[in-house]
Amino acid sequence: MTRRHEILEEMGLTPVWRLTPEKEWIELKQVVPACTACGLHKTRNQTVLGVGDEQADWLFIGEAPGAEEDRLGEPFVGQAGKLLDNMLAAIGLNRAENVYICNVLKCRPPGNRNPEPDEVAKCTPHLTKQIALIQPKLIIAMGRFAAQTLLNSDASIASLRGRLHQYGGLPLIVTYHPAYLLRNLPDKSKAWEDLVFARKTMQGL
Ligand code: URA
Repeated sequence: MTRRHEILEEMGLTPVWRLTPEKEWIELKQVVPACTACGLHKTRNQTVLGVGDEQADWLFIGEAPGAEEDRLGEPFVGQAGKLLDNMLAAIGLNRAENVYICNVLKCRPPGNRNPEPDEVAKCTPHLTKQIALIQPKLIIAMGRFAAQTLLNSDASIASLRGRLHQYGGLPLIVTYHPAYLLRNLPDKSKAWEDLVFARKTMQGL
């Protein structure tokens, strides 16, 4: 039973009519590909909802699909994705098991430009829904856009790393985006510190 359901039950408001999580996933998988809330639907090849275990304990969130992701419909399949897979493997994880990977934006910004605030605002309900359905034990926000969007903050990654944050009552850890790490190799050791911190945090949950 979810916390929401428990609260409603305590308030004497059950049984409540609601779709099962399975049906809500089916609905989300129909709603997102049909989404025209922002201008990105005009330039996308396809939406990129996410990949992995829909009941995962670990949820990794990046920025937005790139060209390869837009072509294949799966997040983090390009160079940054290869690094992410290696980072997952380093802490004994892989994208098929107990891990879900998605992005703040479900559509590719043309030319891989930064997401615009209006696009983030229009796409956030899809992400919020996804998080509510997955109910992960720990969220890892990768990069500035994911961290700032989820924490509603304009602080830098450097100042957000190394601490346990909260998103809607769920623990959240901030780390560098794999694409940034590809351009800034010395910071890989800091990302490793973040992963060790995340693994330790998960063990204590
Ligand atoms: N960068 C992201 O933020 N997400 C992807 O899916 C690929 C690259």
